[in-house]
Amino acid sequence: MEADPIVIVGAGPAGLVLALSLARYKIRCVILEKELDITEDPRGVYLAGDAVRVLYQLGIGDQIDIIGHRLKEINFHKSSFQNNPFLALDLTSDWLEQVVPGGVLQIQPRLEATLRAKAEKSSYCELRYGCRVVSREEKETGVTVFYEDKEGTEGQIIASWLVGADGKTGVVRKQFLEPIANIRQEVGLFSYNGTWVAANLHITLPTPLSHPQLCFWDMGMTSEDVYDLFWPGGWHFCSPPGKPTACGRFGPRDARLWRHEFAEPNWNDSKDAVQLFWEHLDPLITRDCDNLGRPFPTGPITFPRNCIDIRRCRPFTFCQKVVNRWFHNRTILIGDAAHVFPPFGGQGIACGIRDGDALAWRLAVLCQMPTISKVVADKMLLTWSHERRQGVDESTRLTKKNGMLCNGTEDWASFFMRVIVAPLLWLIPGMPSISELSTAYEKEGYRATKDGFFLKGYGGGRKLSQIFVTTDEGSPVLSDCLLQHGRTTMTLFILDPKHQDELKTVEQALEHCGISESAISQKSIVLLSSNDHPPAWPDIKGSKLYRPCPESEVKDLEILPGYNIWRYYKRFGHGAKYVLIRPDLIIFAVAKTFSELQKCLELLKENL
Ligand SMILES: Cc1cc2nc3c(=O)[nH]c(=O)nc-3n(C[C@H](O)[C@H](O)[C@H](O)COP(=O)(O)OP(=O)(O)OC[C@H]3O[C@@H](n4cnc5c(N)ncnc54)[C@H](O)[C@@H]3O)c2cc1C
Repeated sequence: MEADPIVIVGAGPAGLVLALSLARYKIRCVILEKELDITEDPRGVYLAGDAVRVLYQLGIGDQIDIIGHRLKEINFHKSSFQNNPFLALDLTSDWLEQVVPGGVLQIQPRLEATLRAKAEKSSYCELRYGCRVVSREEKETGVTVFYEDKEGTEGQIIASWLVGADGKTGVVRKQFLEPIANIRQEVGLFSYNGTWVAANLHITLPTPLSHPQLCFWDMGMTSEDVYDLFWPGGWHFCSPPGKPTACGRFGPRDARLWRHEFAEPNWNDSKDAVQLFWEHLDPLITRDCDNLGRPFPTGPITFPRNCIDIRRCRPFTFCQKVVNRWFHNRTILIGDAAHVFPPFGGQGIACGIRDGDALAWRLAVLCQMPTISKVVADKMLLTWSHERRQGVDESTRLTKKNGMLCNGTEDWASFFMRVIVAPLLWLIPGMPSISELSTAYEKEGYRATKDGFFLKGYGGGRKLSQIFVTTDEGSPVLSDCLLQHGRTTMTLFILDPKHQDELKTVEQALEHCGISESAISQKSIVLLSSNDHPPAWPDIKGSKLYRPCPESEVKDLEILPGYNIWRYYKRFGHGAKYVLIRPDLIIFAVAKTFSELQKCLELLKENL
């Protein structure tokens, strides 16, 4: 009998990613969304690189350039983005070692529209718009979810699991979990509570026809040059006195959108956000020379106001909080329902995407086990919540660091970074760049998490990088594609197989290991050579052997500088022969011998 669907409350980025991730494992879900349409106001603009990678896994990588543009540089300026940055992170290379873009400045409604369109086409996702979830009844085997549609008609669904992806003020945490399980959002790693004025601008380009009086045209500048001068590319953190500012273009270049947000520490409702905004923006868009330093003959020029359309400008109050527990029985929280961040780290959407991606395969395993005890389910979800708590803490640290670099209250570490480390990184050849240092953290995945779902003693917890791979007759594909096996969630790489018997032995081990097929099965096996030109293809009939694609082979595929196939294997560690991998790219365990593999399978069984 097919299990009841998983019900997800909220069709924001977190809920939609969870739904599409569940569909990868052929698990049915129903999303209940209270609104009929997508919120058209772009809120989150920065989409972190690992979240972009998840979007590729979900099959919407080809839409990235419609949703936004690839972030190439993050600049920290002492005051205005007109000044040279004291620290610039160059993100043009493949700094995350994942082939796909390492960060995107996006239009959130376009991201949501793309995810919704994909979910609407999936036979595993059902979206019901205009349905507000109002209550639920939880039993040991499932949850009955009650909702009301826009006409006031009541409906109910029996769900195997209920996931609250209903944002920071959603009902699932506040009305369902807080009263019975005392689940609340609490201050996380640092206490922050601040009001920011956040504006979205649409810029029209001045032209010689629309603005003949401007001196730009006589200086040989084009409208595009003027745009690049006043609204420079990249993302900018600046600190005009007392007002940390985060700003930059978002969306595709031709959308001409600019986000401008600044802290307004003493906000009260008698203040006028739009007036404050102009007072803040005007000096930043007033210039007296072009990018080559040629002075404007007419003196300082402010970018014409009639070319700036304020799409939205209002105060938002931000804090950093995270739930004290992420689930209770069969009700789970993800996204903003579980955690919230100040805007200067751009972590909100990415964290929700990570929650959904890491939860989906666990729910897929649980839904497919014929009988699951509460103990087993709680154990699986606890490992998820431990890992996600570490993820939220890492995002919080990054957010705090950004905040300190762009406002006046820097600690000694930020001061050290700004005044000593940043110049050194530029000056000394061979010094690692900041982005390379960040990769070191990315590689470590969840290794620092106590009680995560991996075998630390067997090299587990690290995160997989990404390269292109191919078979002897196929064309290059992203290596993350090797991790997809329908209802079976985990992957087992056999590295450099030599002959048929090797494969057979592993197949037999999987057949007799007694682990649910939802976790691992013979479908999990992937044969992978570490040699980009295997001297002779091994005698393995009927099975595909993948090999890495060197740069020369994928030149036409728009690869970023720094592409390197060896880093993929490096993350497995020395002497790796068998690698057990979770679908959220975390290595469960690495075995050097067949007997080690058997031991890892036993331990996997104990973990389920
Ligand atoms: C000004 C601003 C700037 C930001 N900048 C960034 C940034 O640069 N980068 C970044 O990553 N994040 C940023 N964020 C945060 C980001 O927008 C959120 O983290 C993100 O939208 C959270 O996604 P979510 O899916 O968890 O929740 P939401 O996007 O809030 O979605 C929740 C959904 O649940 C629905 N819902 C609620 N209650 C019910 C109910 N009872 N029944 C049915 N449906 C319900 C809602 O209608 C909504 O569609 C910013 C936010 C703001 C306000």
